[in-house]
Amino acid sequence: MTCATFRFYEELNDFLAPDRRGREFTSPCARAATTKHMIEALGVPHTEVELVLVNGESVGFESLLADGDRVAVYPKFESFDVTPLLRLRSRPLRETRFVADAHLGGLAHLLRMMGFDTLYDNQFHDDEIEHLAQAQARIVLTRDRELLKRRNIAHGCYVRALHSEPQLREVFERLDLARSARPFTRCLSCNGTLQPVAKAEVEALLPPQVRERHQRFSRCAGCARVFWEGSHWRRMCERVDALLAGAAAEQAA
Ligand SMILES: [Zn+2]
Repeated sequence: MTCATFRFYEELNDFLAPDRRGREFTSPCARAATTKHMIEALGVPHTEVELVLVNGESVGFESLLADGDRVAVYPKFESFDVTPLLRLRSRPLRETRFVADAHLGGLAHLLRMMGFDTLYDNQFHDDEIEHLAQAQARIVLTRDRELLKRRNIAHGCYVRALHSEPQLREVFERLDLARSARPFTRCLSCNGTLQPVAKAEVEALLPPQVRERHQRFSRCAGCARVFWEGSHWRRMCERVDALLAGAAAEQAA
């Protein structure tokens, strides 16, 4: 039988059985088990892993384990650059796009508010999420670790926080998003992009007070809703400022 010794680092320990956290342990491995297979069998979704060392050498997810191997598994590093060591994923994603699991509607809403392309529908099934992630190179956001173990999900983020604002800060910090935020460029209801539109084009659709008071408008390319910078917009601005300030403070800490 093949037995290997494992050690998981930092927050990856949250996924392990309590008696395996923060220490080395030996586990039997299935025949011809890969590193990915064993890491997930022990409870850790592969999307949470950034680096795997076997006997001190960086290896990929498909590497086969041999008897007596010593396996060290690391999460995404925040503080120092390990890029030369990384072999797990051949290509980083160029554009940050998301698909949010059905229970993360609040987070999806906030990500759209910050301008990130985020698909969300509370009717999404796991198969659809997996398909969208693969077909459109999207990062899966979920609190369901089993979903992140699916083979066709290359990029995922297990969300630890329970409420949408801390969830947003968590995702911002982990994926370093604050600099790429483009608030108010996306429709909160349908995820479409907002484009400036001349007042004359939308005038007929406006309530009289809005027609009198406002000059600048934008329209959603997806659902054709028209937006203007009214009181609702000002409240959202305050919320966005607070969220971005919170993210910046956490990054500096
Ligand atoms: Zn829309």
